[in-house]
Amino acid sequence: KIYHDSDANLDLLKDKTILFLGFGNQGAAQAQNLRDSGIPNDKIIVANRPDHYAEDAKSKGFNVEHDFAKAAKQADIVFLLIPDQVQPRVFNNEVAPNLKDDACIVVASGYNVFYKLLNFKPSQDVVMVAPRMIGSSVRSLYVKGKGFPCFVSSEQDGTGKALELALALSRAIGATKAGAIASSAREETAMDLFAEQALWPNIIMLFREAFSVLKEAGCSDEALCYEMWMSKEPAEIFERAAEDGFIRQLKHHSTVSQFGQLNGALNLDGSAARAHFKDILYNQVLNGKFQKEFSKIEEDLEKEGDENPLEILYQKSEASELGQAEKRVRARLAGLLDQ
Ligand code: NDP
Repeated sequence: KIYHDSDANLDLLKDKTILFLGFGNQGAAQAQNLRDSGIPNDKIIVANRPDHYAEDAKSKGFNVEHDFAKAAKQADIVFLLIPDQVQPRVFNNEVAPNLKDDACIVVASGYNVFYKLLNFKPSQDVVMVAPRMIGSSVRSLYVKGKGFPCFVSSEQDGTGKALELALALSRAIGATKAGAIASSAREETAMDLFAEQALWPNIIMLFREAFSVLKEAGCSDEALCYEMWMSKEPAEIFERAAEDGFIRQLKHHSTVSQFGQLNGALNLDGSAARAHFKDILYNQVLNGKFQKEFSKIEEDLEKEGDENPLEILYQKSEASELGQAEKRVRARLAGLLDQ
């Protein structure tokens, strides 16, 4: 089901105090959109630690509160827009104990709701309003009067009005303009983590191996980098796929290319990839195994240098032939790339 502006009643938000916990990518964009949709500024609170995010919110005219507990006590609706890995710690300790019994909690990602990492009271509403866009686009599309793709769901209906409220909030941030898609925290989490842990790792691996094979065959670093991604051809292909269709975009390629791609894909046996994909989906994502393992390292992600596991992964990935070659090419082309 797709919800449009006409399915959403902004009057439901009248007199509600709306708290944005976090003023980062999504927080800054959604708070501004909501205010521009007619929610009075004195009904919006931004809660943030005292730093540049807080200063940014103040400079945009928002009322900023540094004490999360104090902010939570006043809120009827809370947009939880801090990084997923810190939400359980911050929400459960500082926000949840101070929220009203009939508050509505809004998440922009299904992760912590699906894995039951947040403490809600049964009387509260929990909804997902999850833009499929980076924050800057959520804002710029709204400013241009356009909508953006967004998943919406009611995850817990404490007041009996959770879905209506989710739709009103979706409209207020500009998400029903292009149609908000009915989804669920389970679906959003499954698709997001599947893409991150199955689809894209395979694409990265395919590029890495393709690079090595072509390099061995005598192709130059420069030619390979431009052929494979620096020309932005893959970005154009995905742009056309979104506009014309995943398969139909091939019509823009040469006949030799169309034949090679369609014939090649049909001749590939996908059964090993399918088995691998199912393994990731069922034995890593849906059963919570990844989440449990990730929760053991998530505090380390705030450390500096080699103590940060993400930093180590970057170092290993950049040590690949592809990573090293790109570094050389970018150094050689320094200056030219900016023009
Ligand atoms: P950001 O990384 O941009 O969040 C930054 C905000 O979180 C800042 O206000 C920051 O303030 C605050 N923050 C960070 N750490 C802490 C902490 N330990 N305690 C308190 N506040 C903290 O987040 P996003 O906007 O990227 O993500 C927010 C939600 O939106 C997530 O659920 C994400 O999955 C979802 N989402 C994100 C998208 C994106 O494009 N990024 C797309 C769709 C959904 P400070 O550091 O000053 O405390």
